[in-house]
Amino acid sequence: MDDETYDVLVVGAGFAGLTAARDLAKQGNRVLIVEARDRIGGRTWYRPFADTDFPVEMGGNWLDPDGNPALMAEVERYGVAIDRSPEAKSHVSILDGVMSHAECPISPDDERDLRRFVVEASAQVKRIDPAVPLDTQGVEDLDVPLEDYLNGFGFSVTLKELMGSWVRQETGCHLSQISALHLMAWIPLLNDDVLAIGHIPTHRFEHGTIDLLTRILEDSGADILYSTPIEAVTQTVDSVVVRTTAGELLRARGAVIALPLNCIGDVEFVPPLSPDKAAGVAIGQSGAAKKLWALVTGLPPHIVGIGEQAEPIDVFFTDYPVDETDLGGDLVVGFSTQERALNVLDLEGVEAALRRYVPEAVVLKVDGHDWFADPYSKGTWCTPPAGLLSRYASALEATEGRLVFAGSDISHAFRGWMEGAVATGGKAAVRLNEILNAD
Ligand SMILES: Cc1cc2nc3c(=O)[nH]c(=O)nc-3n(C[C@H](O)[C@H](O)[C@H](O)COP(=O)(O)OP(=O)(O)OC[C@H]3O[C@@H](n4cnc5c(N)ncnc54)[C@H](O)[C@@H]3O)c2cc1C
Repeated sequence: MDDETYDVLVVGAGFAGLTAARDLAKQGNRVLIVEARDRIGGRTWYRPFADTDFPVEMGGNWLDPDGNPALMAEVERYGVAIDRSPEAKSHVSILDGVMSHAECPISPDDERDLRRFVVEASAQVKRIDPAVPLDTQGVEDLDVPLEDYLNGFGFSVTLKELMGSWVRQETGCHLSQISALHLMAWIPLLNDDVLAIGHIPTHRFEHGTIDLLTRILEDSGADILYSTPIEAVTQTVDSVVVRTTAGELLRARGAVIALPLNCIGDVEFVPPLSPDKAAGVAIGQSGAAKKLWALVTGLPPHIVGIGEQAEPIDVFFTDYPVDETDLGGDLVVGFSTQERALNVLDLEGVEAALRRYVPEAVVLKVDGHDWFADPYSKGTWCTPPAGLLSRYASALEATEGRLVFAGSDISHAFRGWMEGAVATGGKAAVRLNEILNAD
């Protein structure tokens, strides 16, 4: 490989890297993708559940057909099938120590307080343009821990715990680790519906995320190196050299760095990244959800459960009811966060956690992936802590010489979603092509 010269190296074969590679290849560039894992997809991974042949998404899963324009453009381009998770028919919640089976487990007073919150938050949200870097909008006052922001509203314990459960499920971390600004920047993308943050999305890829990812890779015609982690990126005035951990040197005229934010710091850049990009990388992102899959019997039909911080599982729901699989139970998906001791691969622990909601639940099998411990993700979907976006949003995605950056974690709109990854991949391809054309 040492003597081969590519026009472009794309580091990372997630949605962002693959989209960038495909677009750059279509623009006539010779593209090599360099991927640490032995598969494409990064933080999406459609693979068989436990020791069955029934595949599920270990990572990125749901999409919004009405609100994810870049991702949906890819879905339509390749004719990829999407379907829906089933609607809930049974409800259970544990909030302030009280179990309820009501669809809306809060009191009329709580509902009034929630409406007051929506009015106040909506007024703040009007200050935010999600398409523009958040460090250029004078919104530093909102870049505070979400826990502090919510404490200002004097909610009842029940309402606070309900909102906490929604937010942990949407961010994968404790409320103290999330910037209020980050979640507010989602709201214009959710049709200005503040409460949409608590809605569980319903659409998914019928044949898994791999269906779309494979089509993008195949369409690109790009070469790809699997199981090839990189450790250094050196650029000169007219080239980029990437060094793999095996010591191999790969050269090109430019590169797309499509790595997770929490992995960029593991790579040595020569010359070093700009001080602001390096500072943002050093802060990193907090998202570190525990996503679990469990095959369960004894559940009410199509159940959705939500629980307070003291519960090991925040949210769970039936994603594949017993009659849609041959597995002999409902296939349930759930979410927890790192500060809970729950091990998603511990059948007895998962069963005990689910029995707090449904005492009759019997767990037959469990599965999941530890994205936090995984060296090639070091977290789940991007959840910026307070102080990152109002200072470093522009720097994180800024081009540096012949290095163009892509990835869901640095996207301005839909940061943390598959949509953000695809959108930044497309944008990175345009930028790098301009640089190469100027040679
Ligand atoms: C549990 C979970 C649930 C999620 N749920 C949803 C959801 O329902 N809807 C949604 O829209 N999004 C969801 N997401 C987020 C979504 O999956 C990501 O935002 C998106 O896939 C990120 O794409 P990316 O290309 O930016 O990064 P990644 O997919 O992380 O791709 C980066 C690539 O870089 C590679 N890499 C890392 N280090 C190196 C190295 N040193 N050398 C070479 N390669 C390297 C990685 O292996 C990886 O393939 C979820 C994520 C997780 C983990």
